[in-house]
Amino acid sequence: MSDIVTYAVQGHLGVITLNNPPVNALSVSKGVLQRILDAIKEGEHDPAVKAFLIVGSGRAFCGGADISEFGKPSSVGLSTLPNLVSYMDTVTKPMIAGIHGFALGGGLELALACHFRAALPGTLLGLPEVKLGILPGAHGTQRLPRVLGAARALDMMVSGDPIPAEKALDLGLVDELLKGEMPAAAIQFANRVVREGREIKRTNSGQAAVDGSVEAFFANARARIAKEHRGYPAPLVICDCVEAAVTLPFKQGVQRERDGFEKLRPGTESRSLRHLFFAEREVAKIPDVPEDTRTREIRTAAVIGAGTMGGGIAMNFVNAGIPVKILEMSQAALDKGLGVISRNYAATVAKGRLRQEDMDRRMGLLQGVLEYEAIKDADIVIEAVFEDMAVKRQVFEKLDAVMKPGAILATNTSTLDVDEIAAATKRPEDVIGLHFFSPANVMKLLEVVRAAKTGKDVLATSMKLARTIRKVGVVAGVCDGFIGNRMLHGYFREAGFLLEEGALPQQVDRVIEDFGFAMGPFRVSDLAGLDVGWYIRKRQAATRPAHLRYSKVADRICEMGRFGQKTNAGWYRYAPGSRTPIPDPQIEELIVEASAEAGITRREISDQEILERCMYALVNEGANILKEGIALRASDIDIVYVSGYGFPRYRGGPMFHADTAGLDKVLESVQRFHAQHGEFWAPSKLLERLAKEGGTFNPA
Ligand code: NAD
Repeated sequence: MSDIVTYAVQGHLGVITLNNPPVNALSVSKGVLQRILDAIKEGEHDPAVKAFLIVGSGRAFCGGADISEFGKPSSVGLSTLPNLVSYMDTVTKPMIAGIHGFALGGGLELALACHFRAALPGTLLGLPEVKLGILPGAHGTQRLPRVLGAARALDMMVSGDPIPAEKALDLGLVDELLKGEMPAAAIQFANRVVREGREIKRTNSGQAAVDGSVEAFFANARARIAKEHRGYPAPLVICDCVEAAVTLPFKQGVQRERDGFEKLRPGTESRSLRHLFFAEREVAKIPDVPEDTRTREIRTAAVIGAGTMGGGIAMNFVNAGIPVKILEMSQAALDKGLGVISRNYAATVAKGRLRQEDMDRRMGLLQGVLEYEAIKDADIVIEAVFEDMAVKRQVFEKLDAVMKPGAILATNTSTLDVDEIAAATKRPEDVIGLHFFSPANVMKLLEVVRAAKTGKDVLATSMKLARTIRKVGVVAGVCDGFIGNRMLHGYFREAGFLLEEGALPQQVDRVIEDFGFAMGPFRVSDLAGLDVGWYIRKRQAATRPAHLRYSKVADRICEMGRFGQKTNAGWYRYAPGSRTPIPDPQIEELIVEASAEAGITRREISDQEILERCMYALVNEGANILKEGIALRASDIDIVYVSGYGFPRYRGGPMFHADTAGLDKVLESVQRFHAQHGEFWAPSKLLERLAKEGGTFNPA
């Protein structure tokens, strides 16, 4: 504990070194800030010390506040960052920040309170607090605009994206780029500051600059932010603070910042984003698979099937520099699949987001093949052929026969039983489900489906692979639809029933979009195409329990040849070439007829009912999934929904949303729907228990 911050006098310098691995977080409770303050006070009284140098040990200067301390009672009697930086404003000996790796959040605020900043090339400097739904709360909103001007500072704080030291030098955020090793390079710079007697430059004086009229600048900025950050309050509050930096004295600006911080910190948005921050770190942990489990090397990959999914999956590998062979049934299918990939990359090049030589390199890592013999040495093979058990079993028998020992055999099935697929081989321990989402080269989510006999090393390797190809891997157990799609059944079912009871597609979509989804269920269906679901429903018709309610509206729409955007008509109408949905009276007529046919008297449906029926259908099934162990933890379900289904991040995912609403209230609604609508709504046992205990899905 005692060396969490070290202080040593070296020549004329009082050198303060942050030493709180892994990122030198400014933990209040561990006394990091108090120790920095103590060191400064000691040096102030030491005539040998002419200046202070603050540096970080290890990989970086400082990653900012200790996020686990947010929302907890503050540690009484120990210095906080706002205290410390205020004190630094009273120090009359030069204070220098020597920065390497990164200075983020509180780390940059600490550096901003210094009088000089020098950084190694490539160092990242930023204020990413907005990503946690808060604002820089230790003078960052006041000092950064005074250094960079209002426009640049606002951009940096609203995006939360860091800038490299080279750019920071151009903008005046750092005074000099350092050369050589740390901390020697910083010590050299600090000694020069002393030797040259450089005048102290404080970041708390004057006011921030803005080009043109202050009113016009902030009116434009607010309009832009409101549009781009719908549902997120933090960016607008940051904008208020920057305005204060332009119009008010420093002290009042700091007060504005403090008020804004206190307003945002307990809000749902910030709590949701912090929940996801921890959920994203937790998701890789698998209780019975130790973190040091030996993983298999993945140097080459193969994909079976060059269709919609196979092509996208292959792109993920070549994007990460892993060569891929794609196997198809015919040269024509292969040419078609490779053509789609090539056009996909070409479009990215045309938009200026990929260099031609990078496209060429990636295409060079792809090879189409027609024989299994050609893929036998791949370290992993992912099957993405038609969703048909007989076809999949055949493919896996073949893979079992040809693939080298130790190869991972993965299936991208969305609905089929991975245990049954594994049973087609004599090596079920090597078989796993890797459920990508469409478009597979874009969507972040990867459900890693652990079958009964999947080896622990295969699971660990797949989770590691997810990171390599820049996906968020979430472990799921075997069941129909795994985590995401299984929950989605209820969501779409309720959306459909609501139409029969009195709502229209545009009302349901509006409510879901106002909640924060980019698109409601009917717009999404039109985008994805209605035919796929229709074929599945036709196949299931014979085995569908006759006593259960079934809405025929979706089938009727398909029978009219309306398959969504691709036919310019689905739940909505579309002008040719346009993606804007136009409500269609023909569909309204069809819905009203369906209500009559089902003997349902249409009624006014409130927005709240729409929201609760769609969301709590997700939550109730999510609770079953959790209880059955299909998901390892509630936060994994939240990750699935925010990274694969467009659930608004600022609501933290469906299970966190339920926790926020209060599980007793959620249960009350579920019980009411159960009484009104029958067995689809049988309350989850886990929900019942937690509601009774006053508990939550996610540990508090
Ligand atoms: P698709 O019809 O676009 O592509 C399937 C491809 O596999 C075709 O090119 C076909 O020629 C090829 N193929 C079929 N049998 C083959 C065999 N024996 N050997 C080699 N190639 C063969 O289908 P898709 O949408 O890419 O779906 C593929 C798999 O991915 C399915 O299991 C599906 O459930 C799953 N999936 C699809 C989505 C989606 O949104 N489309 C999402 C997740 C998972």
